[in-house]
Amino acid sequence: MDEFDIIAHYFAPLAGEGAFGLGDDAAVLPLWSGHELVVTTDAIAEDTDFFPTDPPDTVAQKALRVNLSDLAAKGTSPAYYLLNLTVPRDVTPAWLTAFAAGLKRDQETFGISLLGGDTNAGVLSIAITAFGFVREGRMVRRSGARLGDHVYVTGTIGDAGGGLAVLRGEGAALSPADRDSLISRYRVPEPPVSFGATGLGDAAHSSIDVSDGLIADLGHVAKASQVAIVIDGARVPLSAPVKALWGNDALLRAVTAGDDYQIAFTGRPGLSGRFTAIGHVEKGSGVHLMQDGREVPVQRPGFRHFEG
Ligand code: ADP
Ligand code: MG
Repeated sequence: MDEFDIIAHYFAPLAGEGAFGLGDDAAVLPLWSGHELVVTTDAIAEDTDFFPTDPPDTVAQKALRVNLSDLAAKGTSPAYYLLNLTVPRDVTPAWLTAFAAGLKRDQETFGISLLGGDTNAGVLSIAITAFGFVREGRMVRRSGARLGDHVYVTGTIGDAGGGLAVLRGEGAALSPADRDSLISRYRVPEPPVSFGATGLGDAAHSSIDVSDGLIADLGHVAKASQVAIVIDGARVPLSAPVKALWGNDALLRAVTAGDDYQIAFTGRPGLSGRFTAIGHVEKGSGVHLMQDGREVPVQRPGFRHFEG
C-alpha cells in the first residue's frame, strides 16, 4: 500500500466540491457570497491528545472536532478541511478504514467535506486545517468583552478532563456508565457547532473555545479585552459523572481541565439559550473564581504543552 493507494482508496470518497476527487495538485475552495473565509488549524498527537489504543474512528473525529470547535467559537459555519496525516509505515487497512469512517460520519453530521491534504509515513500524527464562513465583519473576537457583560458557557465543563483522569486510573469507584460517559467526552468532543454557526454571532460580544481549561481560556478573553472576569463557582455547569469522580474538588478540577471544546462567551446580561450564565465582566484584569463569597486561588489555570 503506497500513499497513492491510501489517498485513492480511503480519502478520495470523502472529497468535496472543488477537490477534483483528490486527483489534482491543489483544490479550489468555492466561496460564499457576502461572507469572509475563516481558517484555523490544529494537530493532535499520540500520548498528548489521544492514546495509541483509542479507536481510530474516534481519533479522526477528535482531530476534526478540535478544529470545528475553533470555528464555532468564532461564530462561523464550517465548510471544508485539509488533512495532513502521518501514519506508521505498517498501518493496517483496518485502521485506515475505521479512521476514514470516523471522518465520513462527522462530515455528514456537520455538513463539511475534504479538500485535500498530505500523507506521510512516520509517528502517527494528524493535523487538520478547517475552513468556514462568517458574514462579513462578523467573526466573534476574544477582544470584544464589555464592562457589565455576563459570561456564558455552553454544555458542561470538565467531562473530558474527567475522562482523561479515568483513563489514567482515577475513579475506580465510578459506575461503568459514568466512566464511559467521561471517556467518550475525552475521545470525541462535542463542540456546539450549530449554535456557533447560528446563535452565537448575535449573542456574543467576545468568545473563545474552551480547549485548555475554562479559567485559562477566559484569561485570554480578559487579556485581549483588557477587563477582569469574575466566575461564580456555584453556577459552573458540572455533570453528575464529574461530581461523582471529583467530589469536593470537582469545581477546581473541572475549570482547570483541558479538552472541553465548549464555547465561553460574553454578552449582555439576561441572555438565555443552550448555555449557562456563570459570571460577569468588570474593571481590572485576570479571571477570579469565587466560591462562598471568597476568591478561590487557582495555581494552574489550564493545560500547557511545555510545562514540567
Ligand atoms: P504532492 O506530490 O503535491 O505532495 P500528493 O500526492 O501528496 O501530492 O497529493 C495528491 C492529491 O491528494 C492532492 O490533491 C492532495 O491534496 C491529496 N491528498 C494527499 N494526501 C491526502 C490526505 N491525507 N487527505 C486528503 N487529501 C490528500
Ligand atoms: Mg503531498
